This record gives sequence, C-alpha cells and structure tokens, in this order.
Amino acid sequence: MATIIDGKFVAQTIRDHLKDQVALLIQKYHVTPHLAVILIGDNPASQSYVRGKEIACQKAGIQSTVVRKPSTITEAELIEVIDSLNQDPSVHGILLQLPIPKHLDSDKIISLIRSDKDVDGFTMENVAKLTNGKGDLIPCTPLGVMRLLEYYQIPIAGKHAVVIGRSQIVGKPLASLLLKENATVTICHSKTVDLKGLCRQADLLFAAIGVPNMITSEYVKPGAVVIDVGISKVDGVITGDVHFDSVQALASYLTPVPGGVGPMTIACLLENTLRCYQKLVGV
Ligand code: NDP
Repeated sequence: MATIIDGKFVAQTIRDHLKDQVALLIQKYHVTPHLAVILIGDNPASQSYVRGKEIACQKAGIQSTVVRKPSTITEAELIEVIDSLNQDPSVHGILLQLPIPKHLDSDKIISLIRSDKDVDGFTMENVAKLTNGKGDLIPCTPLGVMRLLEYYQIPIAGKHAVVIGRSQIVGKPLASLLLKENATVTICHSKTVDLKGLCRQADLLFAAIGVPNMITSEYVKPGAVVIDVGISKVDGVITGDVHFDSVQALASYLTPVPGGVGPMTIACLLENTLRCYQKLVGV
C-alpha cells in the first residue's frame, strides 16, 4: 500500500517558515514583499485562483495587489500596465493570471515582464536558465513537485523518471528539474507510442495530462512513486489524472487530488515572491 504524500501539510510547513522569514525581513529592512497580480476579464476560475493567491499572501505577511482589467483591454494598454509594474520599486513580483483573452499574445506579453520579477518563471530568460540547470525562478507547480520529493526524501539520481505532459507550465520544466537531479528522464505526450509500456518502466511517474483517472494500475510498475499533477472537475468533484484506488495498492508513494501537488503550487508562488524580493532589495 502506498504512502500517501500529504501536500497540504508540506505546503503549510513551507508557508509557516516563509511567514517567519517575511516578518524578520520586514523588521530588518522596513520593506514589505509585494506581489502584483494582473487579472483580465471575469473568468470565475481565474477569479477564484487569484483570490486564493491574495489570501495566501495576506497570511504570509506579503502585500498583494490585484490589477483588474476588462477583457476588452488592448495589447498597448496591457503593455502599459506591465511597464508600470516593472518600474514600480515597491512591486517585487508580477504574475499575469492565465489564460488571457485570445486577442492578446500571451507569450509576447509574458516576455515583457522583468525577469527578476517573474514569479511564475515563464519569461524566456528564466526558461533558458532552467534548461541550463541554473534556474532560480522556477515555475511554481514543478517546483512544488520537487519540494514534495525532497520532503519525503525520495531518491531521484539514477532513477527513471517518466513525465506525461510537455507543457511550458508543468511537463517541460519538471523534466528539466528531474534531469538536473540526475534522473534519466522520458517525456511523453499525446503522440507517444506505447505510453503504458513506457510508464511501466518508470521508478518515478508524473502525470500532468488533464485527463481524469487515465493512469490506472496498468501504467504503474510495482513500487513506483506516482505524482499526480492533474486537476479536472468530474461531476463537480476535483479529480486527478491518476486512478487513485487502483494505483494505491501498487505504488510506494502517491499524491492525492486534492491535497497533493495543488497546495504546493501556492506555497512555491510565495517562495518565488520572496526570492524576487530578496534579489531586488539586495538581501
Ligand atoms: P496542457 O493541456 O498544456 O498539457 C497537457 C499535456 O498532456 C500535453 O503535453 C499533451 O500532449 C498531454 N496529453 C494529453 N492527452 C494525452 C494522452 N491521452 N496521452 C498522453 N499525453 C497526453 O496542460 P498543463 O500542463 O497546463 O496541465 C496539465 C494538468 O495539470 C491539468 O489537469 C491542469 O489542470 C493541471 N495543473 C495543475 C496544477 C496544480 O497546481 N496542481 C497547476 C497547473 C496545471 P500534447 O503536447 O501532445 O498535446
């Protein structure tokens, strides 16, 4: 039976530690870490994610500002918003809540965020650093996955890690991080032939697909570590990519959904905000 990885607990431990660090830094330098979130339009899921980020900042003693703009905002107007946040010395971290309306080019807009305020680690400069094994602002979800492995002291070096999913947000940066820790990494995607066979070779299996309950026991080698990044809603219930009940009996470690990777993403956003602050304030 798998050990269930308690992401909620690990995330809270990180958040408690960050809160203490923030309090000490404010006391010493009289500057409060400040995250600015740009929210465009009225997508209910985005609004709820942003609210979650605001609350998390508040609890950690980090100032947060939500810059709300209508979905009709033009590219030029959005660039102006980013320019002004880039230049504002009181703002240490900038996050553009995705997705943004289709008439805006998200890659172009993200590339305009100052890379030392890029708390999501999405700018080209930060992506290049990560690919070269020198990343310091790392996308929050893959960073959260690595923190879970670290907390549970799960060995990575020399292991075969299979990552299902090749997005810029999860799959690719996660593969880079695993490679940096000396795993042998296979990246799979929708065109992969014999996905099951490849997954069954994995010592460490990461599902970042967005297809609920797809990864059943047939994909899992006995004793493998299985990390479920997926979040989908099935009949109103938050569901991961891994079929929890069937995999639980085979895996050595398994993350639940909810309560696994999800809470780590927010904890790592706070961590990245503090990292930007420390660099910008010079501490
Ligand atoms: P994307 O849709 O950008 O990427 C999904 C990836 O899965 C793609 O590479 C796609 O392949 C691959 N894929 C899709 N179907 C299959 C299949 N049948 N077999 C093999 N591979 C497949 O999603 P994200 O990376 O943004 O997110 C993945 C999941 O993680 C989602 O459920 C999302 O909600 C969740 N998520 C959770 C977070 C958290 O905090 N826990 C944060 C971010 C995301 P291809 O490239 O060929 O299309």
